[in-house]
Amino acid sequence: MNLRSLFWLAALSYTLVIGGSLLLYRLYVVFPAIEQATIDARMQNIRAALGSYQNERKNLKGLNLDWAKWDDTYEFAENGNREFILNNIDDKTFLDFDIDALAIINMQGLTQYAALKINNIVTEITETQDISADMDISHILNTDEQYGIIRVDDKYAIYVSHHIQDSRQIHAPNGVLIYMRIYKPEFFTRISLISGLQVTLGQFENVSQETRPHFENFKINDIRDKYYFNITNTRDEVIGQSEVQFPIGSSPKAMDNHTLYSILALIMLPVFITGIIYLVILIPIFRITKNIRLMKSTGNIFHLTQKSHIDEIDGFLNTFNGLVDKIHMYQQKLLDDSNTDGLTGIYNRKFFDIAFDKGWRVSTRTSLPLSIIMMDIDFFKKYNDHYGHLQGDEALKEVAIALSNVIRRADDTLARFGGEEFVVISHVSSQQKLEDLLTIILQAIRGLNIGHKQSSVHHHLTISCGACFIKNNGPWMKDLKLEALNKADEALYDAKHNGRNQYSIRTFQAPSQTK
Ligand code: GH3
Ligand code: MG
Ligand code: MG
Repeated sequence: MNLRSLFWLAALSYTLVIGGSLLLYRLYVVFPAIEQATIDARMQNIRAALGSYQNERKNLKGLNLDWAKWDDTYEFAENGNREFILNNIDDKTFLDFDIDALAIINMQGLTQYAALKINNIVTEITETQDISADMDISHILNTDEQYGIIRVDDKYAIYVSHHIQDSRQIHAPNGVLIYMRIYKPEFFTRISLISGLQVTLGQFENVSQETRPHFENFKINDIRDKYYFNITNTRDEVIGQSEVQFPIGSSPKAMDNHTLYSILALIMLPVFITGIIYLVILIPIFRITKNIRLMKSTGNIFHLTQKSHIDEIDGFLNTFNGLVDKIHMYQQKLLDDSNTDGLTGIYNRKFFDIAFDKGWRVSTRTSLPLSIIMMDIDFFKKYNDHYGHLQGDEALKEVAIALSNVIRRADDTLARFGGEEFVVISHVSSQQKLEDLLTIILQAIRGLNIGHKQSSVHHHLTISCGACFIKNNGPWMKDLKLEALNKADEALYDAKHNGRNQYSIRTFQAPSQTK
């Protein structure tokens, strides 16, 4: 596995592990706690709403009890004297008690008096079916205090009943007084203000049965925007539902934006950090390894020029580049050593062969003229024999220095051809200039004033030169390199033959031009 894959694998596993654990933690630890807390809080809210129902009932109960245990009511139940109705029951009574219907029934269950507020006017009614349909009359007759929810005039209402008795409650009850109060919009507004909930009563047939516990002993187990509770009449028949609606958006979600952003931030932070590590450390390392691989495959060693912001990487780059410099130095030295003659320090035969081949090809293709000069020390065997081999070496060095002082043009090449022989590739432009150069060479060697008692041409060390002057260089020269070298050798032979300490020139030209 390479570093890049390892890095991305680590980043990916990190993201999965951290992101996954945070998600699981949210879903299985945090969210259930939030859910439970929300359910508890909602139970409180619903209880507060329920409290309003109960208060409403309590208030009505008090009013009803007051009248039921009143001697005047007791008397009316006893003798049905209409005076009682005329004196006590009118619009104002209904208004003061905030009731919408009233009924007095005797202990046989027969209606003695019933009135209903129709269009804000209290009207006596003989047909009590409208108001008693949801009431269990036998229940009311058997129990002193009774209450419940019923439908009056197609609206939901609370009813409260008490047995009618004399105020001291000595005699047995002789009837039942029933008050009914319709639930009005103001009531629901009040609940909404107290509990923050929207409560509605109605028939919500589309809601499944199991979601409707009875309103007064409700328990909620889950979170939803609306809850439904059954309303039953005294016979335990379902007559409608109470819809309790919580404000929109108040239900917690398993994954809300806030949590999502928090998890993202927790994931992004390390991703950001690993991104920086990737940019600052890994990318430079990748570049370094890529370049080093390139060096290995091409065999070409070069400086790593990249910059990094990390001291350790910079340190490595500096050390590496220092090593590259050293390698370049050694390479150059090796090259120089392999091209240089060990004794004289000028180019060796090997280098000459390469330079001659290159110079020859350039002259073949271009107008650059070319001459070859072969040089040989006169009577050098005798010099060695007389002065010794070591001094012979010294003489060779001095001759090389003298020659390199004369051959100064950048594109001319001086080399030791072998033994006491030297060679020059020169680009002088004419034969005359070649002759001038040869004259200077002979003078320069003589000018060294190296004594040579055994020489029969001069009392100082001398050399003989044979030159090949190539006339009208051009493509005809191709493949004639060695012939030119031979011409120079022949010229050298001429110079030796003619008495040494002199030069001889042979020209070399295209075969067609020789005539
Ligand atoms: P000529 O004038 O005809 O050139 O006569 P010569 O004696 O110079 O020629 P010959 O070829 O007979 O002798 C060349 C001598 O050069 C023989 C050898 O001892 C000497 N020599 C060749 N290389 C070296 C060298 O590296 N050091 C020394 N000291 N002598 C060398
Ligand atoms: Mg020789
Ligand atoms: Mg010689």
